[in-house]
Amino acid sequence: MKSPCFGNHHPVHINDAFGRLDAAVGELKQLMGSMAHELRTPLAALRGEAEIALLHGTSIEELKRVLASQLEEIDRLSRLIGQILTVTKAESGLLALERKPVDIEALLNDLAETLSVLASARAISMSLESASPLVASGDAQWLKHALINVLDNAIKYTPEGGSVAVRGYETANHVVIEVKDTGIGIPADALPHIFERFYRAESSRAKAIEGVGLGLNLTKWIVDHHGGKIEVTSHPGTGTRVELRLPGGRLE
Ligand code: ADP
Repeated sequence: MKSPCFGNHHPVHINDAFGRLDAAVGELKQLMGSMAHELRTPLAALRGEAEIALLHGTSIEELKRVLASQLEEIDRLSRLIGQILTVTKAESGLLALERKPVDIEALLNDLAETLSVLASARAISMSLESASPLVASGDAQWLKHALINVLDNAIKYTPEGGSVAVRGYETANHVVIEVKDTGIGIPADALPHIFERFYRAESSRAKAIEGVGLGLNLTKWIVDHHGGKIEVTSHPGTGTRVELRLPGGRLE
């Protein structure tokens, strides 16, 4: 018997819709699974530490040390939840990205200044070279997010004494931002996965560099939704180059 709403008129469209729904549900399940995993491990560590301190903690100093380490872990968890919320917000489909002129030169100057504190704490030299003016078309807040993620990674994955070089320039229709570091690099087998949610290269996990694997996923979402492009090339042990290509704009 033919169902009234599943007639033969649009069988392909309905299959398409079901296919998409199925993929979306699958993706959601995978996200929930990864989230549960990411949250369970630090929570178990927090609990174990508290239990041991309660049972065996002998001095106030020792208890203070445990509390301080727990505060750090709690902060890390809060940052993780913040990142998950940002990714969810971005992907909810409810967000309209602005399309306004964004002064990328000013943004890069601000970010370089803020992040240079982080860099110099680890003896990493940061340089910035930017065309003036350098204007993209898009959403300033989200573009700032994308740039912070890329710059933060460059600093984070570069050992002490290394360097991070940022360059911003214009082509006929685009604004290009290039971030080059002399860091640990990304192995060739990891490179195709770096934009996946919660993916972290084995080398980064092994070095206990903090991160959850959401930054580049969000960055790619932002760049894609600006009609731009992100490209990453890397040589393990030598460094990584990230290029963001965004639609150009004009200051109003
Ligand atoms: P994370 O929070 O782990 O830094 P990202 O999504 O920002 O997550 O990046 C995904 C993975 O890509 C990182 O875990 C790391 O393995 C690799 N990666 C990203 N940027 C760099 C870089 N500049 N140098 C080396 N590895 C990088």
